Parts: sequence; C-alpha cells; structure tokens
Amino acid sequence: LGGSISRALQQMSNATMIDEKVLNDCLNDITRALLQSDVQFKLVGDMQTNIKKIVNFDDLAAGHNKRKIIQQAIFNELCKILDPGKPAFTLKKGETSVVMFVGLQGSGKTTTCTKYAHYHQKKGWKPALVCADTFRAGAFDQLKQNATKAKIPFYGRPNGLRGNFITDFVMIDQELVYTESDPVRIAVEGVERFKKENCDLIIVDTSGRHKQEAALFEEMCQVSEATKPDLVIFVMDSSIGQAAFDQAQAFKQSVAVGAVIVTKMDGHAKGGGALSAVAATKSPVIFIGTGELTDEFEVFDVKPFVSRLLGMGDFSGFMDKIHEIVPMDQQAELLQELSEGTFTLRNFLKMGPIVLEAISMLPGASQELMPKELDSSNLKLMNESRIMRIARGCGRPVRDVMEMLEKYKTTAKTWKRLKISKKGDMNAQNMR
Ligand code: GDP
Ligand code: MG
Repeated sequence: LGGSISRALQQMSNATMIDEKVLNDCLNDITRALLQSDVQFKLVGDMQTNIKKIVNFDDLAAGHNKRKIIQQAIFNELCKILDPGKPAFTLKKGETSVVMFVGLQGSGKTTTCTKYAHYHQKKGWKPALVCADTFRAGAFDQLKQNATKAKIPFYGRPNGLRGNFITDFVMIDQELVYTESDPVRIAVEGVERFKKENCDLIIVDTSGRHKQEAALFEEMCQVSEATKPDLVIFVMDSSIGQAAFDQAQAFKQSVAVGAVIVTKMDGHAKGGGALSAVAATKSPVIFIGTGELTDEFEVFDVKPFVSRLLGMGDFSGFMDKIHEIVPMDQQAELLQELSEGTFTLRNFLKMGPIVLEAISMLPGASQELMPKELDSSNLKLMNESRIMRIARGCGRPVRDVMEMLEKYKTTAKTWKRLKISKKGDMNAQNMR
C-alpha cells in the first residue's frame, strides 16, 4: 500500500501542472491500494468524494506544496473514519465494572480477555475473568491456563467430566452423567462472586458466534441481559478482509457494542477492517492484538495506525526508501544485518531516518551510545543514569532521548511484524 501511495504521490509531485486528471489518477491509485488493505469499498468511495471536495484547486495552483496538501487530506479523512465521535465508555478504577467480550469463534476473545485484564492489572486495577463459554471444548481450561499464568483470579466450570466444579448432573442407568453447564448461570455466579471480592474489572468471556448459529447468538444476548455489562467489546480478527463491516454490524445489532479490539495485527493483514468495524459499530477501536503472548497488546492510537496504513508499515515502501536513501554500496550490508538477529539500537540509528523520514532524529546519539547499548534490543538496559549521560553527551534534554528510545521501540515492533510477514520478499529484495 505505502509503496503504491508514495509512488502515486511521487508522480503527482513530478507533474508540472496539477489538474483534475492528475488528482483523479492519484486517487484511483490510492483507492486500489486501500482496497488491498481491506478497507471497505464504500468507505474508500466516500473518502474519494470527500477528498475531491476538500482539496482546493486554487490552493494547489497557488504554489503551496501540492503533495503535502493531498497527503494531509487523505490522512485526515482516514483518521476521521476511525473516530466515531465519542470515546469508549470510561471505566473507573476502584468502582465495579463488568466488561463482556463478544466475537466470532477464533477471533481471539479468550486470549484478548487475558491481555486486557493483564494490561489493567499492571495499572493497579483488580481484574477477574469469568468464563461463560461452555460451548467450545476446553474453553475453561484455556482461560484458566491464561489467567493462572498472568495471576488473575478466574471463575468457570470445565465443560467436560473433569474437575470438582461440576454440580450439574443427572443419574442415568445408575451412572452419573454430567449435563452441559448453563453459561448464563455461570456468568452471573462469576460476576456476583467477584463483586463480593471487590474486583473493579470483571471480564466475561463468551462463546463465539460461529457464523449465524442462532442458539449461540441468543445465548450471547442472554448473558448480556443477565450480567448487565458496562461495556461490550467486540473482538475482530484483522484477517477477515472485506467481511469486517457485515460481521461488526451483525454484532452491533444484537448487543450494545461499545468498543472494538482488532487482533492478529502481527500477521499479513494491514488492518483496514478496523475502519469498517468503527463505521459499523460507531465505536472506537481501543486496543490491537499483536501476537499470542499476553503482553503483545497495544493501545490503539489513530494517527500512527493511519501512518502505518499509508506506508510506514509497508514493506515495499520501506524497501523503496532504503534503495532511495542508503548509498548503493551500503544497502546489501544493512539488509543483511536487518534480516539477521534482533533489531538493535544500532540498526535503528542507521535506518531511523529512513523509516521516520520527517521526524528529526537525535543527532550524535550513535556517538554517545556505548557498544553494549548499541547492540542491545533490551530497553531495560537504558536506565536513568545512562539516559542522562546520553542526553548530556548530545547536549539535548532527557525528554529527547526518551522519545528516541520510544521510537526505537515502535520501529523494532514494526520491523518484527514486517520480518515475520515478508520474509520471502525480503530475501528476494536482498538478492537484487
Ligand atoms: P476465541 O475463540 O475468540 O476465544 O479465540 P482465542 O482467544 O482462542 O484465539 C484463537 C487463536 O488466535 C489462538 O490460537 C490465539 O493464540 C490466537 N490469537 C489471538 N490473538 C492473537 C494475536 O493478536 N496475534 C496472533 N498471532 N494470534 C492471536
Ligand atoms: Mg474463547
């Protein structure tokens, strides 16, 4: 996407006369690219119409930076789509809140419940997990395992014949036969129990709606009515493509979805479905899932997300920039370094200006860093005294060093994602 967009914008800036045809050509290229990133057809069309209204030909003719004007207009339009106009319901630490997770089976609900709980626990909340999924075999075991690892209290019953929790059973032919547990009852029991224990964030994991199975859908509504959640979070797999809008809308029509979490952003998907989910639910995206581990979870931030959608996270765009900026004889070496091992501060300082383009780097930082610091990818090493030393060395405020390290962290994450999803491409590029 970024590649084609930057190419489109490049073409535009090279054009000597800016007229409607050039703008249209540029918009058509971007449209194609956004569709490839799973942004919904209708949203792309609306954006195109808006851009034509916003971009003022007189401004363009008056000699302002044409490329900047159009780039900014596109950026703003995409940001606007991601902003439903109101924030998600704000939970208050210390007061009891019930949050219910919904979404298709396999979308990542159970994993995300734990991530969400863990995130809040680190900030001093007292979260607890309730497993109201009695449908999927082993659902409780999965939640129990995740919760135990993250040291979060949990409640539920195994939907098998194991454990001491099961109280539902009947006698058939002199044998005990356990019956399927009732998800609504378990949900209510769990919520009641954790309210008594003064938990301030009670998270209810539900069974996924598998396609249009009416029974599960009904169950989701019953759990919602019985537990009266303060917030319902819709969990969506980023790789579902153009199906995102209809899926999100179907959930919104059945329960009062108030926020969205998009998962599996570490995979191939560019996440354009996030725009659909916001449009369909009129709710903001609050987090994204970037891996299977509990801390692979990021607060969703509109602007960096859109930047990524427009290019920063794009591999071919990234490669274009490397070829453009890094001297020919150093390209192979840099690519080799990047394709091996971890992404170090040394790598970052070399390629920072490429990735971040306009953002000013910290000049002189690479001279101030010690070899051990440069070759590390562990920011824990960068303690207060080291940061102060570097700041003094560069003659810059500590804040600038912190910001540089923060950028390193995000770039390293982006790089990890790119490397995972584009390993083949990279080797091919490396060869040429
Ligand atoms: P549920 O059926 O909605 O509860 O989904 P699960 O939480 O069981 O997740 C389904 C699969 O997706 C599991 O294998 C998870 O490890 C995986 N998964 C969940 N979130 C992410 C993510 O952000 N990135 C990746 N790579 N995998 C994820
Ligand atoms: Mg689950």
